[in-house]
Amino acid sequence: KQLEHLNNQVDNEWVNFNYRINKALLLKKSSRIKNLTAAAEIYKELIEEKTQFHNEILLEYCDLLLIELGMTNDAEILDEIQLYLNELIETAERSKSFWLLAETCLIQAKVSLITLDLTKARRFLIQGQQIAEKQGYKQTAVKFAEEYEDLKSQEHLWENFKVTNAPISERMKLAKISEYMRQMLRNRAKLTTQITEDDFTIHKERKICLVCRGDIKGYMYVCDCDTIYCEHCARALANLENVCWVCDAPMDKTKPVKHYEEEEISG
Ligand SMILES: [Zn+2]
Ligand SMILES: [Zn+2]
Repeated sequence: KQLEHLNNQVDNEWVNFNYRINKALLLKKSSRIKNLTAAAEIYKELIEEKTQFHNEILLEYCDLLLIELGMTNDAEILDEIQLYLNELIETAERSKSFWLLAETCLIQAKVSLITLDLTKARRFLIQGQQIAEKQGYKQTAVKFAEEYEDLKSQEHLWENFKVTNAPISERMKLAKISEYMRQMLRNRAKLTTQITEDDFTIHKERKICLVCRGDIKGYMYVCDCDTIYCEHCARALANLENVCWVCDAPMDKTKPVKHYEEEEISG
């Protein structure tokens, strides 16, 4: 009897969980503030519970926050989104989910664009590409390279947004952030990650490249600030900005440092 009771309880929890997640999704589709607020309440509850669908729920909630951001142009919402993205990155790293890590870099690049920080946006695109290349995700690597080129060709638009202080909703449209968020959410299966305690202990002792977050085997570049880069990323950075992302010191001292702003003037 006890077992039956337990079974019922588990079933009920599952039904209840499904009910809430579907309800939140439905409410999110509505454009009424009342419904969006109700959806937000459910997501916040589900986030607290840290279910096995935690990553997906975090992203769904970020998607909702983006809707709110577009409606209100309230920059504080960006801080909240950033908080959840950081949590996603942490989970991705702990579970070695490089797909999630790369895709989150793309969203981070878009968030940086919305805050008009182009240098940060470029770095996230470079990071995503390095992660994809290191893991052999060819299509993803191509996507990042294309995004990098797109940003180059739209640079004058973004610079203009800085001058005119364009509303956040306009910046969101140019960055296409909501489209990317939904694309990511369509890959539900890839969003579920598993972390074992073991992974976490090993993680602490591993030598990890700052950019591609992969284990470093063989050659590594150690900056004076003790930041370490794998050979692949060190070469890529030396050919781009040629500065350490942590301390801004030149990486290849025989080459000039290329700040993006200077590049714009000379180019
Ligand atoms: Zn690397
Ligand atoms: Zn450094």
